[in-house]
Amino acid sequence: MRTKNGMNDTERLREWDNAHVWHPFTPMQAYCEERAPIFATGDGFFLTDTDGNRFLDGISSLWCNVHGHCVPEIDRAVRDQLDKVAHTTLLGSASPPSIELARQLVERTPDGLNKVFYSDSGSTAVEVALKIAFQYQRQKENAKSETGRRDTFVCLGGAYHGDTIGSVSVGGIDLFHAVYGKLLFDTIRVPCPVAFRVPDGHDTDSYLRFCDIELERTIDENAERIAAFVIEPLVQGAAGILVHPPGYLKRVRELTAARGIPLIADEVAVGFGRTGTLFACEQEEVQPDILCLAKGITGGYLPLAATLTTDEIYNAFLSDPVEGRTFFHGHTYTGNPLGCAAALASLELFEKNDVLTNVAANAELLAARLSSLADHPHVGEVRQKGVMVGIELVADRDGNRPFEPALRIGHQVTLAARKRGLLIRPIGDVVILMPAPAMPGELVEELCAKTLDAIDVVTLPASGRA
Ligand SMILES: *Cc1c(COP(=O)(O)O)cnc(C)c1O
Repeated sequence: MRTKNGMNDTERLREWDNAHVWHPFTPMQAYCEERAPIFATGDGFFLTDTDGNRFLDGISSLWCNVHGHCVPEIDRAVRDQLDKVAHTTLLGSASPPSIELARQLVERTPDGLNKVFYSDSGSTAVEVALKIAFQYQRQKENAKSETGRRDTFVCLGGAYHGDTIGSVSVGGIDLFHAVYGKLLFDTIRVPCPVAFRVPDGHDTDSYLRFCDIELERTIDENAERIAAFVIEPLVQGAAGILVHPPGYLKRVRELTAARGIPLIADEVAVGFGRTGTLFACEQEEVQPDILCLAKGITGGYLPLAATLTTDEIYNAFLSDPVEGRTFFHGHTYTGNPLGCAAALASLELFEKNDVLTNVAANAELLAARLSSLADHPHVGEVRQKGVMVGIELVADRDGNRPFEPALRIGHQVTLAARKRGLLIRPIGDVVILMPAPAMPGELVEELCAKTLDAIDVVTLPASGRA
């Protein structure tokens, strides 16, 4: 459509976008020259931009979409709730969708988690978990008799738990976090048990052994100082899909349980089917004391998050109001009824469409279709758990030497994929594939084929293709 001054709608929107919108996690100077798609509509597992170009959504719209876009059942649930009321507060009052969702989350999450505190994003779900754990330690019945203070958090190297100051404090990605140093509180860190590039003097086995020893030593030596241990179960997503060795999560649970240290499981990324089970903790039969959920909770529809806790933790907040044990935390849109309605519809679809069986089939398909990368000259490693995939691009497989950061190789692959009608987004030089748990197999095939093509075009320019 042409407007008076000759610009079409897309050009005009792009001009306004570049003039006024500051995009998250986006180098804006480069972005403004890139003519990124402006998505106008979605259907199933595709998104269509304002020029009518269709893209396969290869990253679940940043790791949150579960059943596709414009899913009739979820659309209807949100519309039905909209006919009733869009928002009421949970501060001192309740709403039917938030009650029903809490009940269903408690039913489906690992045993022992009986209380649901709502918020709006993964970052706030973690922030809430940290504050609850900290306050719990202050208010525990025997707190006064304890010698230690239990006011420090243990977290993993390379962890990502969100972008608010508390969740950044327990994070460990220097590129995102270094600049805020002075604002962050101190934590105790254990090494991430992944041996892609190991320090001098180590091989894979010796490094993983070192990580185990460090884990045990850190918990032993600091037990009386630790408020809680925070972990992304099974897979560290934003670190580049780093998959922990089997048994690691269970080991962390055993060590923390033995010392009475609460375990905070951040399932913001891995929850809702992505690793093959509804929640990742199930795979190692781990019951955390606090569980953080967001991203996939509404099927990727609306901003909603939940922090679940045990009765023991919750009970430490009970008393006569004047005693000041209340958890003074809450966001305006906490437990928004539209979000809760979407979440309830999404949970129903998990069962109705047998989504976890689909995840298992797609996990096999991804592994098979990406197996050709095993001897690609510029792929250092393909890491996968369920339908979470990270393809680590390297300049040289010898020692996994990285590409020069200035080349932005991962980003170049994204741009090449875009030309092929595929939406993906890398983390540094790790190409991330995160198909929605309900994506049909034939679209997973398309996702793999286009990704392989984009990687070749960018990393093997000698192949003469563009
Ligand atoms: C994305 C993510 C978060 C933060 O969630 P937001 O909704 O972006 O605030 C926290 N933890 C993990 C593991 C995540 O992947």
